[in-house]
Amino acid sequence: MMTYDSDNIFAKILRGEIPSEKLYEDDATFVFMDIMPRADGHCLVIPKDAARNMLDASPAQLAACLATVQKMGHAVMKAFAADGVTVQQFNEAAGGQEVFHLHYHVLPRHDGVALRPPGKMADFDVLKAQAAKIRAALSE
Ligand code: AMP
Repeated sequence: MMTYDSDNIFAKILRGEIPSEKLYEDDATFVFMDIMPRADGHCLVIPKDAARNMLDASPAQLAACLATVQKMGHAVMKAFAADGVTVQQFNEAAGGQEVFHLHYHVLPRHDGVALRPPGKMADFDVLKAQAAKIRAALSE
């Protein structure tokens, strides 16, 4: 079993050691913008407590994350007038995972619009404006 590395980049975000564009938090989860968005409004839901991925997460962590994923799904649908939402979650390198703290991708989708390729850094002014729209949708 692979172990949790507390120096992973999302652990550093949770500790406030590196910045993030925060959207939401509750007792158990934290949500922020993905800096290489594959769709406008692409955000990430993570548990506050350590979990490498789905395979070592507790049922309580998984339940809390999915409740927040649903909340964010509604918010991004509203903020971007989306037609649907894609949720992605990867486990271990072979499963496509690159950051080893459990996370769910929430991607608003529009009919006929493909996801963008991975790996392209966002324009931070655009990301901030999109985050503001999502926060507004959450507070409505
Ligand atoms: P994966 O582990 O394959 O689900 O991918 C990790 C995701 O984290 C990718 O979509 C990256 O764009 C995203 N990411 C990596 N570093 C950061 C960061 N500092 N802030 C926000 N998102 C990040």
